[in-house]
Amino acid sequence: MNDKSLSNLIKPLLNAWYPTISHGTGVYLYDVEGKKYLDGSSGAVTANVGHGVREIIDKMNDQAKKVAFVYRSQFTSEPAESLAARLCELSNHHFQFVFFVNSGTEATETAMKMAIQHWQEKGKPQKIKVLSRWMSYHGITIGALSMSGHAGRRKRFVPLLEEYPSVSPPYCYRCPFEKTYPSCDLACANELERVIKRTGSEQIAAFITEPIIGAAGAAITPPDGYYERIREICDKYDVLWIVDEVMTGMGRTGKVFAYEHWKAKPDLLTLGKGLSAGYTPIAATVATKSVLAPVLNGSNLIMSGHTLSANPLSSAVALAVLDYIQNHSLIEAVESKGAYLYAKLKSLQQQVNIIGDIRGKGLLLGLELVQNLNSKASFPSSFELTSRVIQKAQDKGLLLYPSQAGEDGVEGDGIIISPPYTITSHEIDELVGLLTVTMVEIEKELGERKRKMNNLQNRFHKMIKSTDVMSYVQNDMTIMFGGFGGVGTAPTVIEEILKSDVNGLTLICNDAGFPTIGVGKLVCEQRIKKLIASHIGSNPVAGKQMNDGILEVEFSPQGTLVERIRAAGVGIGGVLIDVGIETDVICVGKQMITLSGKTFLVETPLEADVSIVYAKKADEFGNLLYDKSARNTNPLVAMAGKVTIAEVEEIVPLGELNPDSIMTPGVFVNYIVQSKGVNWKWVWE
Ligand code: PLP
Repeated sequence: MNDKSLSNLIKPLLNAWYPTISHGTGVYLYDVEGKKYLDGSSGAVTANVGHGVREIIDKMNDQAKKVAFVYRSQFTSEPAESLAARLCELSNHHFQFVFFVNSGTEATETAMKMAIQHWQEKGKPQKIKVLSRWMSYHGITIGALSMSGHAGRRKRFVPLLEEYPSVSPPYCYRCPFEKTYPSCDLACANELERVIKRTGSEQIAAFITEPIIGAAGAAITPPDGYYERIREICDKYDVLWIVDEVMTGMGRTGKVFAYEHWKAKPDLLTLGKGLSAGYTPIAATVATKSVLAPVLNGSNLIMSGHTLSANPLSSAVALAVLDYIQNHSLIEAVESKGAYLYAKLKSLQQQVNIIGDIRGKGLLLGLELVQNLNSKASFPSSFELTSRVIQKAQDKGLLLYPSQAGEDGVEGDGIIISPPYTITSHEIDELVGLLTVTMVEIEKELGERKRKMNNLQNRFHKMIKSTDVMSYVQNDMTIMFGGFGGVGTAPTVIEEILKSDVNGLTLICNDAGFPTIGVGKLVCEQRIKKLIASHIGSNPVAGKQMNDGILEVEFSPQGTLVERIRAAGVGIGGVLIDVGIETDVICVGKQMITLSGKTFLVETPLEADVSIVYAKKADEFGNLLYDKSARNTNPLVAMAGKVTIAEVEEIVPLGELNPDSIMTPGVFVNYIVQSKGVNWKWVWE
C-alpha cells in the first residue's frame, strides 16, 4: 500500500492515489503539480459550463453576503422561488411544482415518494412499486438503488433492495429481442405492457426511465417512437412516468430537457448535476399539477425533504448557471458542437478496431468497446478495460467518464464523452487527439494480450463454462486444477461441485492451503478421498483429517506440480503458470482443468474480483515474496510456498465460515481472530 495515498478522506478506492486539483478554468483543470487535464466528461457529466466562470462566482458571492441558509419550514427565499418558476417556464408550464433537494439520488427518491403519495391520496395505497429498466442508474440510496438496473452498484446490497428493474433496455446495438428497428415494432417498449399486466397495475405507482441511459449504458438512446409508446402504456394502466434527467437535463443533449427529443411528456422529472453545473449541490424533483392535485386536495404535505432543501445560496447559484447558459446561447451550441464531436469520433472508430458503437445526443456521447466488431463480443471483465482506458487517458491529460455496457450490463465496457458546453472546436480537436493516442495504445496492448490468449486457447481441447463442469464430473474422479488450484477455481468450479453430491474425488492442485474455502468445505464434508497438493500448510481441517487418517494427502513439492501435470499427459501446466507471471488476469479469468485426461479451459468469470483482490493482496507482500526465480514466479504461488501458520490454538472447521466467500489469508485470519479470539501467528520462512 502506498502510504502517500492514505489520508483521512475516504476516496472511491481507499488506498489509491488521486491527484490533488488546484484550480480550473474553462474546460481545463490543473493539479498541484501543474499538470493540465482537459475535462472531456465535465467530471461526472456535471460541469456543464466549465470551471471558474466569473459571472457565476460573483452571483454566488452576492447571495452568500445576503443570506446563505434559511430553513424551508420557516421561510421561503427569492432565489428558490425564482428558480422553481424558471424551471416550470422552461417546460412551457407543462410542470407546475418543483421540490429542491441536494443530489440526484434524493431527487429520484423524492419522485418515487411523490408518485406513491399521489396514489395514496387518491385512495390507492397498494400502488407502491416503481418499475424500471435493466441497465439504468437512478442513485445510490436504498430506494434509488432499488430502482436502478445497474448490476455492479446493486450487487453488494441486493438483499436490501426491492426487485424493481423489470424491463429490457431500448438497446438497438444489442437488441434484447434480437430484432431491428423499425420492424421490431418497439418490442422493448411493448415489454412494459406485459410486465405491468403480470405484476398487476393495481400495485404499480410509476415507471422510471433515463431518456438516454448514462452510467449503466454509455448513452444508450432509444429510437423514435419509443417514449411515445411508453407514454401510451403508462396512461392505459394508470402508471405515472418519471423521467430521470439528472444527467441529461439542462441542455446536455441539445434541448433543455432530453424528453423533448420525443413527443411524450412525463408526469415527474428529476434534475441534478447540470442544474448547478457543479458549482454547488442542488437537485430537483419536478411535477405536473395533476400529480400533486390529490395532495393539494388531501394532506397538503409532501412527505420528503432535507435540511438544506431549497437553500437560497444553492438556488442563487443554479439561477446564475441558468442565466449563463441562456445569455451565451449554450444549449443551441450543444447541438452543433455535438455533431462536430460525433463526426470526429466516427473517424476515430475507423482507426481502431475496438469501438463497436458510438451513440447519444448533443454533447452526451458514448463509446461501446468490443473485442470483435462483427460478433460484438465484449472484453472479459477481468480485462478491466474501461478502467484502463480511463486511467491511460487521465495520464495523458484527458478526463473521461466510465460506464457499463454490454449484453448483460455486467461484462462490457463503455466510455462517456461529455465536455462542457463551452468547449471550442479547437478544444474538441485536442480532446479527440488525446483520445486517439489513448485508444491506439490500448488497442496495441489488447492485441498483445489477445494473441497470448489465443495461443493459450489453441492448446486446450475445449473451452467450457464453470457451470458446465458437472456434465463431466462423476464420483471417484480425479480432477486436476491448473493455475492456483483452489484459489482461482474454488468459487466457481468447486462451488459447482459443492452443489452436487459427487464424492470420492481425488483433487490435484497447487495449493490446498489458506484461501481454499471451497476445497476446505469439500474436505469438511469428506467428499475428497485424496488430495495431491503442493501445500496444505494453513488448511487446518485438511491437516486434522490427514492426521486422523480420513484424508489421504500426498504432497508434491512446489515446482514439481508442472511435472505432475506433464506426467498426466497434458504438457501445458507450465504455460498457465508462465501466463500467470505476465498477466494475472488470464490466470484469474480462466483456469485449466483436467478431467479424465482431457484438458479444458474453464471460463470462470465470477471469480475474477476475488482473485484480483487476492493478487493485489499478494502484491502488498511483493518485495518479500515476489521471487522471479523459476520456482515461485507467481505472487500467489510464492505466497503459498512461503507462508505458513504456526501456533494454532484452536482449529476452526472451515465449514463454519461463510462458504460463499473466498478469503485472503489476512481476512481469513482476522475473521477467526475476531470471531473466535484465537491466536494465530504468521511465520515467514
Ligand atoms: N440519476 C442519474 C440518471 C444519474 O446519472 C445519477 C448520477 O450519476 C443519479 C441519478 C444520482 O445522482 P447523484 O450522484 O447526484 O446522487
